[in-house]
Amino acid sequence: MELSIIIPCYNEEAALPYFYEEVTRVLAPQKIEYELLFVNDGSTDETLRVLKHYAEQDAHIKYLSLSRNFGKEAAMYAGFCNAGGDYVAVMDADLQDPPSLLPRMLETLQTGEYDCVATRRVTRQGEPPVRSFFARRFYRIINKISDADIADGARDFRLMKRTMMDAIVEMGEYNRFSKGIFGWVGFRTCWLTYENVERVAGKTKWKFWKLFKYAMDGIVNFSQAPLNLASWFGMWMTFLSFLVLVFIIVRKLCFGDPVDGWASTICVIIFMGGIQLFCMGVMGQYVAKTYMEAKHRPHFIVTETNKEDAQKIK
Ligand code: UDP
Ligand code: MG
Repeated sequence: MELSIIIPCYNEEAALPYFYEEVTRVLAPQKIEYELLFVNDGSTDETLRVLKHYAEQDAHIKYLSLSRNFGKEAAMYAGFCNAGGDYVAVMDADLQDPPSLLPRMLETLQTGEYDCVATRRVTRQGEPPVRSFFARRFYRIINKISDADIADGARDFRLMKRTMMDAIVEMGEYNRFSKGIFGWVGFRTCWLTYENVERVAGKTKWKFWKLFKYAMDGIVNFSQAPLNLASWFGMWMTFLSFLVLVFIIVRKLCFGDPVDGWASTICVIIFMGGIQLFCMGVMGQYVAKTYMEAKHRPHFIVTETNKEDAQKIK
């Protein structure tokens, strides 16, 4: 097998026919041996039935069906663990990742100059402005505070060599943030850019809140900066209170000490209480992650597949 394309699908019955048709149209003239490895991420619609239907007609179609909705990250991981190709691509099922880029990506890898071809969108048109705004802030922040190198607008859509994929499978962490993982493993990456495309059919699975939580995961997974922030707060507060102490002693010596300042005392107490709770919350985030990692639960459970000797649980 030369090329495996991994497609995580969650309730994509509407988009799948378009996707299948377009990918087949692009790959058929390529004279390359390929498999389309669909991962049904616990869809509640007819996605699995559609996949089975295609699989009966076309030997290129492979599917893994997970026992419930594990999330896109887990679905991708299931794909990585079961991809047989020398080259491996990840794509969304909604044609937001244009299959027409694939031949160019393949060519780039075949020159041997790169290990991976990644894509990023240069526009975010068609996306709610609030979402774009927060997305931009997120990329600015995470690049500053972590050693994962993540381009703004980077997609999960990429084609990589098996060596790189093996490295990614090796990173078996439970809280997965692939954009960070791709950057972390390194390798020679070539970036392609393209204009944003809106999804062909169906609805986005990412509500604002889900994305926000995902962004927080990204930060906590790839950076200890929030923890350092707590130490910095502590240090500055200590320094500040020392200055205030000196001021109060001097004032007492020079002017005596009439009792007042009840309001300001309460303000300081509430302020400090707030900061302490915030810092505990930050620490809690890391402790919670550690807890989840320590349990070593599987990332995914496959209940149905047409792939022989598929890895069903990992
Ligand atoms: N997806 C998934 N599991 C989920 C959510 C999404 O497998 O829990 C898949 C989805 O089917 C699609 C891809 O991840 O192929 C990207 O999702 P979507 O297009 O909804 O995200 P957006 O493009 O809006 O960021
Ligand atoms: Mg999409």
